Amino acid sequence: MKKILVTGGAGFIGSHLCERLLNEGNEVICLDNYSSGSKDNIIHLLDNPYFELVRHDVTIPFFIEVDEIYNLACPASPVQYQNAPIKTIKTSIMGAINMLDLALRVGAKILQASTSEVYGDPDVHPQPETYWGRVNPIGSRSCYDEGKRCAESLFVNYHEQNNARIKIVRIFNTYGPNMQPDDGRVISNFIVQALQDKPITIYGNGNQTRSFQYVDDLVDGLIRMMNTPDEIIGPVNIGNPSEFTILELAQKVIKLTSSKSTIEFHERTADDPMQRKPDITKAEELLDGWQPKINLDDGLRSTIDYFKKIVQ
Ligand code: NAD
Ligand code: UDP
Repeated sequence: MKKILVTGGAGFIGSHLCERLLNEGNEVICLDNYSSGSKDNIIHLLDNPYFELVRHDVTIPFFIEVDEIYNLACPASPVQYQNAPIKTIKTSIMGAINMLDLALRVGAKILQASTSEVYGDPDVHPQPETYWGRVNPIGSRSCYDEGKRCAESLFVNYHEQNNARIKIVRIFNTYGPNMQPDDGRVISNFIVQALQDKPITIYGNGNQTRSFQYVDDLVDGLIRMMNTPDEIIGPVNIGNPSEFTILELAQKVIKLTSSKSTIEFHERTADDPMQRKPDITKAEELLDGWQPKINLDDGLRSTIDYFKKIVQ
């Protein structure tokens, strides 16, 4: 039985990861400050004697004996991180330092949840790991993008200078149950609006693209990456290459929910990437043939079922 620390474990992705790691027979410690996650996401795990919940902020050092650390603590919704930009930077950078110091001290492997946002508004498409990105260092997304880029640098330098056992995964847009209905990301916004027959809010003309993966596929990729030999450190893209426009997504959500919602076009947000699609060749090679399995329609159906239970 491994002892595994999941920071940001009460968040959307973290809660699925905690559950899966417990189901695989591990002991799991979930650390969270509940700033963008929710206790409701992990409340069903509290009866499990191999699950522990710690209210803590990763910007403050934390000590525990563990074998593995998944460092997920950080708001991921642009609305959330732009509401608290300085805290977001501190979470990414001080959180990375504190967790890397802990990993070194106890000899644990540590996986960093990085992001496709390190590629910014990309002029290479699809994005391979070798692409350095096009990020506005002082724009409204920079607290997140530059925080995550600096965290990657910290991970690589702790590895090179101190032999830290690191893994870096660049996560592309992910969706599924346990997203907060008001967290502001596109899939949760569109589904909640559609279920309430309210207008669907598209920022811009809807021609911008994304490639969304269902959360189960991501969790599978994260665990496979953690289990690779120490010499494999990444970064590795984990995402679903099936790309669609935001307008197509709006139309699909309306159809799947049989909603009466209309589509409303609003001003485009600053520095919004026009296109995003992962090149997953490296993940397929390194992670034992890993590939996303759940298509958009199936993933949206189960996400819609989840939101039906929690919104009127
Ligand atoms: P989320 O906001 O649902 O979860 C993040 C969790 O971290 C929340 O529970 C929050 O309360 C916690 N947290 C935030 N700051 C903290 C702090 N200072 N100390 C302790 N806990 C803190 O977001 P998510 O979608 O589950 O994302 C998880 C991770 O994956 C993040 O690091 C994010 O950057 C990364 N990621 C997510 C996506 C995606 O599409 N969901 C894409 C790329 C990268
Ligand atoms: N978006 C939108 N309407 C919304 C929320 C988001 O049109 O209600 C757009 C947003 O401008 C971006 C895309 O959907 O182009 C994805 O946004 P999200 O916040 O989910 O993630 P991002 O990939 O931008 O971090």
